[in-house]
Amino acid sequence: MDYEAVIGLEVHAELATRSKMFCGCPVVDPIESPPNTAVCPICSGMPGTLPAVNQRAVELSIRVALALNCKVHRTSIFARKNYFYPDLPKGYQISQYEYPLATEGYQNLPDGDQDRMIRIRRVHMEEDTGKLTHRTGNGQPSHSLLDLNRAGIPLLEIVTEPDFRSAHEVRTFAENLRTILRYLDVNSGDMQKGVLRIEPNVSIRLSGDTRLDTRTEIKNLNSFRALEKSIDFEIQRQFDLASQGEQVVQQTLGWDEENELVVPQRSKEEAHDYRYFPEPDLPPLVIDLSLIERVQQEMPELPQEKFSRFQDHYGLNEYDARILTQDRPVADYFEKVLHAAPSQNPKVVANWITADLFRLLNSSNLEIQDISLEPEAFASLIELVTSGEITHKTGTDLLAEIFSAGGSPEQVIEERGLRQISDPHQIEKLVNQVLDQNPDQVETYLKGKETIAKWLFGQVMRLAGGKANPQLVQELLEKQLAIEKNKPSNPTNKHDR
Ligand code: ADP
Ligand code: ZN
Ligand code: MG
Repeated sequence: MDYEAVIGLEVHAELATRSKMFCGCPVVDPIESPPNTAVCPICSGMPGTLPAVNQRAVELSIRVALALNCKVHRTSIFARKNYFYPDLPKGYQISQYEYPLATEGYQNLPDGDQDRMIRIRRVHMEEDTGKLTHRTGNGQPSHSLLDLNRAGIPLLEIVTEPDFRSAHEVRTFAENLRTILRYLDVNSGDMQKGVLRIEPNVSIRLSGDTRLDTRTEIKNLNSFRALEKSIDFEIQRQFDLASQGEQVVQQTLGWDEENELVVPQRSKEEAHDYRYFPEPDLPPLVIDLSLIERVQQEMPELPQEKFSRFQDHYGLNEYDARILTQDRPVADYFEKVLHAAPSQNPKVVANWITADLFRLLNSSNLEIQDISLEPEAFASLIELVTSGEITHKTGTDLLAEIFSAGGSPEQVIEERGLRQISDPHQIEKLVNQVLDQNPDQVETYLKGKETIAKWLFGQVMRLAGGKANPQLVQELLEKQLAIEKNKPSNPTNKHDR
């Protein structure tokens, strides 16, 4: 029988605000900051404290909702989601339930020539929990450590409809979503640090069926790779169960990264009843239309729009447009270079960035926003190469140098005498010098071993310290060899006489 996979996502994204959702505590880096240093009576759940909504978090949430084409509701309501867990000192999480901030959005997934639409069910605001670290071994009794730095950090939950049909689709969507969140300056997208957490719900059904069957939910995914792998694994596991006539059990699964398989975490029997009720300490969240309009106006160009513009406006191919627009700082850098060298072919500039600059970024482990190489300096370097003042090889060497040491390309060129030799007389001299110094090779060439010409070319370039214009060298070398061929003394011509 023919089965298909059905997948929906729950995404949790921390909002990059300066302070927490309901108190003034700073939002600190989860790795760098010592535990429990950004905590106050409100976020540690002391009795008698009162929450106050972070206005910036509301704005960032609206930004995301609009980018995902959602309806933003003028009134939404915070609710208490009650459960006990040591990382939740209040005994409840403030979230939104019946009346979320936004609903009914969509995102298009590129799928071959067509787009597939993934519906966004809801986007709502909540607060993050603290973080538990479980310790065993070392001769100590096993114990858990609690860090409340994360408790109360604004969290956005994005829930899709179960519209995905494969792990690959989920990955494409998730990567796009991360790019959008980064473009919006809402979230760093760092899945390793847990600031972006993606949880798929997976079920299968007979192809063509419209009803939803029992699902499982996968947690603990800290990379796109793990997201895709775990879903593929889970789909296969459910297919196998079905083919043996067995039922899927509704449960939460964890991804075991090392062994690349899913392991049960908790089953339905333990499922919570959260006893949601409206948060009595917060009034309904009423959003002014003017705020929505302002957020809309301040919205940056989104990745998909930039991607299309880079193709239409700059004539870039899909591949270049895609990699240049994946990160906003890269796209901005590209445009700055182009702006400083307006006569350049955008394709040429794209190549310098995606090939040469990316290589340098990779090997130095730097982000483009952290480098000291000014776009203007990069632009003049590219111009020096295209105008033939320096060779391409000199250009790439020079790029590596000013990439780490800074400085202007012109200055380094002057200081080092790196300017390309384009004077035919000078090059002719070099060619003759090489031919004079290598009479045996010249003879072998004249006897018919044409590949020697390449070797001779290399010798001329070497003599020129790599600075000679290669086209000119090629031309003049060919000319000179032709002259040699026609000399009366040339043995190959003797038979003709
Ligand atoms: P909760 O997990 O809070 O109970 P829902 O049941 O509304 O919330 O769904 C959570 C996520 O699971 C949504 O992304 C939804 O699309 C997806 N989902 C719901 N039912 C199924 C199913 N049978 N198969 C796959 N995904 C599902
Ligand atoms: Zn606090
Ligand atoms: Mg769920």
